[in-house]
Amino acid sequence: MPELPEVETVRAELSGLVVGKKVEEAKMLREKNLLSDPKVFSSNLANATIIAIKRKGKCLRFDFDNGYSLYSHLRMEGKYFLKKAEEEYDRFDLMDLRFTDGTSLRYNDVRKFGKLSLELTKDSDTSSPFSKIGPEPFDVDGAYLRKIWKGKTTPVKIALLDQEKISGIGNIYDSEILYFTKIHPTTPVKDIPLEDCENIIKESRRILHEAILAGGSTIKSFNHGGIDGMFQTKLAVYGKEGEPCPTCGRPLQRRFIGQRSAYFCPMCQKAPDGKLILGLAGPIHCGKSTLAAYLEEAGYLHFDADKVASKLYDEKEVATQIKVLLGDEAYAGNKLNRDYVREALANDKKKKKAVQKLLYPLVKEKAKEFIAKTKNGSKVLLDVPLLYEAEMEDLCSYVILLDAPLEERKQRLEKEGRPTESLVKLNEEYNVEAKKKKADYLIENDGTLDELKQAFDNLGF
Ligand SMILES: [Zn+2]
Repeated sequence: MPELPEVETVRAELSGLVVGKKVEEAKMLREKNLLSDPKVFSSNLANATIIAIKRKGKCLRFDFDNGYSLYSHLRMEGKYFLKKAEEEYDRFDLMDLRFTDGTSLRYNDVRKFGKLSLELTKDSDTSSPFSKIGPEPFDVDGAYLRKIWKGKTTPVKIALLDQEKISGIGNIYDSEILYFTKIHPTTPVKDIPLEDCENIIKESRRILHEAILAGGSTIKSFNHGGIDGMFQTKLAVYGKEGEPCPTCGRPLQRRFIGQRSAYFCPMCQKAPDGKLILGLAGPIHCGKSTLAAYLEEAGYLHFDADKVASKLYDEKEVATQIKVLLGDEAYAGNKLNRDYVREALANDKKKKKAVQKLLYPLVKEKAKEFIAKTKNGSKVLLDVPLLYEAEMEDLCSYVILLDAPLEERKQRLEKEGRPTESLVKLNEEYNVEAKKKKADYLIENDGTLDELKQAFDNLGF
């Protein structure tokens, strides 16, 4: 989606191309995208000359010499093309301004989300589309943000996207702005001190300004790609999940906040509660409990998902549902019949999936409760073998995947005098290679206990 710099680039490019041109005929090809009266649109634009193109936030305004203005919001994919008037329409052309010089300005929109509206030109008109757009970061200071955010618990990531309060910043630049101000995207805006608000304005201006400069110089061809202002600008974090943070080198993270994706560095942008949450995943008998014990010694608060899951079976509501899925034999009286359940799950993939679907969200809830109860600044270890299956990676600052060679894991099992034949099967199901791609850190537990501890220490947490 174009943000302020892209729309500014479109404005500047278009100004050079169409200001001074006189409209011969104006056609709205898809009336749904026109918010004003279509008849007024055609009759008032015929014979009118474009005298200026202005912009507020992400909205464009074409001013005409007859006192009318055409507002244009590009939304997701809106583009302008200047073509020869006789060229055929593209199926995504939604509007056509045919000029007296034989050229034609087409508004083209593949997603068809863009909006146009013809209104009387009045800068101070409270009913114009511009009046609903908040000030740009260039027009306000930190005190303004402090004032509008007072008492509000909205995460800053979302607050910066509210175009009625502050305009021009979209999903890309708000990730960049928060990264450079070292503010975590979930921080409630009421907790952002004046100094940080001032920093947000300062960085917003700098980043938007640099992007405007970059945009002005990198548009190659409006004939082929259309004028949409999108360009490759140097981004520090946006779209770079898993890549090293330019400041500290740790992998950048992506999380959904209010259904928008936020890219950030959990180390450089400390969570508002100051907690460090390490997720630990890994296949059976890879040494997770050994590592977990070491982390406990180091002060990590240990959430043991296996223990939590096994306790969940004893809860009355869970038991009722397990009985529905696996039969009454799953419990002997009030006690879980572990052997029966193990057998039932091993032999029936569908039932296993159904039980997992029941338990995973409950384990995740317990993990959230566990984290919530810890003090600010705590270090938490979420020890969850099936962390990805339970979709718990979004609770973690970082995920460590622990792996060990299959042979060594077999030997560990044998030492405990337990059967090893199911291990191979479980290992295949665990799909450790796919998880290696997702995890932030990989520890190969193929040496001694001391080497395992050292491997963790080397991560520098
Ligand atoms: Zn960093």
